[in-house]
Parts: sequence; structure tokens; C-alpha cells
Amino acid sequence: MITSPQMQTPSNDIGNKAHMKKIIFFLLLLTISTNAQSDTSIVPLWSIDSTITTDVRYATTDNFTGKILYPTDKVYIRKIVALALAKVQKELSENHNLQLKIFDAYRPLSVQKIMWEILPDDRYVANPATGSRHNRGAAVDVTIIDSVGNEIDMGTEYDNFTEKAHYAFPDLSEEVKVNRKLLQDTMIRFGFHPITTEWWHFDFNGWEKFSILDVEIN
Ligand SMILES: [Zn+2]
Repeated sequence: MITSPQMQTPSNDIGNKAHMKKIIFFLLLLTISTNAQSDTSIVPLWSIDSTITTDVRYATTDNFTGKILYPTDKVYIRKIVALALAKVQKELSENHNLQLKIFDAYRPLSVQKIMWEILPDDRYVANPATGSRHNRGAAVDVTIIDSVGNEIDMGTEYDNFTEKAHYAFPDLSEEVKVNRKLLQDTMIRFGFHPITTEWWHFDFNGWEKFSILDVEIN
């Protein structure tokens, strides 16, 4: 059947509008998914917050393996985690005159394999077969420093693999208990989840959504 041009115009208009709506919806989806991707990409922490102090022991021999494991002392992490750390830093700084210090964040899977070769004991090192939450760029090892850069007393040093490093170890001074609680409460408030055995380690909520990566860091 041949339809007249007069009959076609209104229906084409409706068709065009529907088509435009589809395009706009698609562009919106594209924008959302692009943003989501960039939020979860691995970024240098300093690009989000250059005020956070870092002390990457794995870039030195001053760590439990006694070997240099990272080619750089720059901290890399998922962007969404870096944004949360910036909020922790702001809270500590503005309300307590304290600062965050980062020991470790994203850890390439290749480094996890080296750690496992040195210490194949899953009480201390995550088996690279299943990976560490650090390999997902979704975990951080942190402490708190005062306004002149001294670490506040957390009862043990970082990477102390004894029961004294357990958050709830009973035989700790009141000061240490208060310090650990301040770190834990502040981290939880901005989206992190503590573990019981290492006062310094926090997983970012939803860590399981992030894949294990072997991104080269330099
Ligand atoms: Zn950790």
C-alpha cells in the first residue's frame, strides 16, 4: 500500500523522536559505564591526594622478606579506593590533627608469586593461586602519623606477624587501644572493612567485584 506524504510525516516524527530517545539513552549508559570504568581503574594515589604520606617497605629491603619486591615506592590503588582514602585523610587531619600513612596498596600478582616463593605459608602470605585482596587493588595497609610525621603507637610495627598485631589482643595499653580504634573507626566510616589479625590491613567494601590484576607499576 502506498501512503501519502501527509500520512507519513507524523508517524516519522514519532519514530525520529523515539530514535533520538534511544540514542540519548545509549549515550547516557555509555557515560555511566565510562565513569564506572575510570572509578575502578588503577591510579597513582598522589593523583587523587598528594598530601597522604607513603612508606612502601616492599620497595626497600626493610620488609619481612628482606628483599626489594617493588620497582617503585609509588602507591597505586583503584581510583574509588583512593577517593575514600582522601576522605579518611581529610577527617584525620581536620578533626584530629593527624594524617594517614600508607605502607601498601595495589600489589601486582607477579610480586605475590615472589612473596609466596619466599614464604609459602598462608598464615602470612596469600597464595597467588587465589590471590590477595591487594592484587585486586582493593586493600590497603595503613597507619596514622602525628603532625610531625611520627607513627602513633599501635602496639606493634607494621607486618608484625604475632598475636600482638591482632586488633583485639587483650594485653595492650589504653593508648594503643584508643589509637587502633581511631584508625579502625575512621576507615570503617569511609567504606573499609578491617580484619582481625592485622591492625594495619583494610579491605575496601565490595573488594570481590574487582578482578585480580597484574599491572606493571613503575
Ligand atoms: Zn594488607
